[in-house]
Amino acid sequence: MFEGIKKFGFGLMRLPKLADDSIDVELVKKLVDEFLAAGFTYFDTAWAYSGSEVAIRQALVERYPREKFQLATKLAAWRATTQDEALKQFDESLERTGAKFFDFYLLHNMGDYRTKYFDDFKVWDFVAEKKSAGLIKNLGFSFHATPEELEKILTAHPEVDFVQLQINWADWDAPAIKSRACYEVAQRHGKKVVVMEPVKGGMLAAPPAQIEKILRDAEHESSPASWALRFAANLDGVAVVLSGMNSLEQMRDNVSTLKNFTKLTPAQEKVIDEARNELAKIPLIPCTACDYCANVCPQKLPISGFFAMLNHLTLFENKTFASRREGWLARARDKNPASSCLKCGKCESVCPQHIPIRKNLVRFVHEFERSD
Ligand code: SF4
Ligand code: SF4
Repeated sequence: MFEGIKKFGFGLMRLPKLADDSIDVELVKKLVDEFLAAGFTYFDTAWAYSGSEVAIRQALVERYPREKFQLATKLAAWRATTQDEALKQFDESLERTGAKFFDFYLLHNMGDYRTKYFDDFKVWDFVAEKKSAGLIKNLGFSFHATPEELEKILTAHPEVDFVQLQINWADWDAPAIKSRACYEVAQRHGKKVVVMEPVKGGMLAAPPAQIEKILRDAEHESSPASWALRFAANLDGVAVVLSGMNSLEQMRDNVSTLKNFTKLTPAQEKVIDEARNELAKIPLIPCTACDYCANVCPQKLPISGFFAMLNHLTLFENKTFASRREGWLARARDKNPASSCLKCGKCESVCPQHIPIRKNLVRFVHEFERSD
């Protein structure tokens, strides 16, 4: 299924933009040209990535023979309110991309409350029909939830050809993401893995100073991003490592990292372990995102999302990045801000990690809600 496809894919979620906020298609064309010229062929978009499917039609599909690349896109059933609305995303993707068929088609972001939509709207039967009709060559799903849930989905759907997982060296053992455990579930089921977020939304390309020092001391000439990509590419069973790129400089750095990729040496693996251990010294809130607290909170506060933002801030000392990167986990905060906490303590009585939630919410208000 992935035979002949090199291990590096172009992730099209965050494409470069012009001043008027539209996608810079001319720059995307240049990026596509460099990517293909380096021998890479895998492109990953989604119905839900605003403007991305149309941009890739203009930059790739209309400019290169269809057999020269593979295109992956995704159906986000949880964005729909009816079955009809969900299933028509497939035809919309075909029309927007002009791709005629999809080499790889994914159910987008399964896990948590979202999984149910794919069952309720009979998306699994629908994509099986499209696969029989030759419009989908390989079927997979992207996933952001627990290894237990991944186990359940893969057991229920052995027809899946591959899974797309969030894997990076920082999240490898992180309780909220559990990259390693999810990867191991996929391995046990014999599924090929496409890696998303190998540089954690760009953050591992510019890690905290003490982490960068460890990486640069080991290999002065290698960028932190190259360590992140190599960590993901090094894993057995990983077929493609996706990276979003919005400048030629990033593209060239990534391409040179993965063009002649060879397995990491034990010494290089040790460097990553050291970086991870250093990261572990940074005092983070040990929240596992189980959301027991949110279920009992009378104010319905997205507590684990707040903590993801605080942890990001602790790690990278950048509030804008913390909001941009993890803010979606706390998207209910517009209606339910941390400052509306009643201090009733119900959340703390159910938190398995015994986290002083109220105290941390005060910190959140101070960092993210107060303007002074
Ligand atoms: S203390 Fe605040 S966050 Fe905790 S349950 Fe009560 S209102 Fe919700
Ligand atoms: S109950 Fe505790 S560990 Fe679970 S999400 Fe809430 S704060 Fe995090």
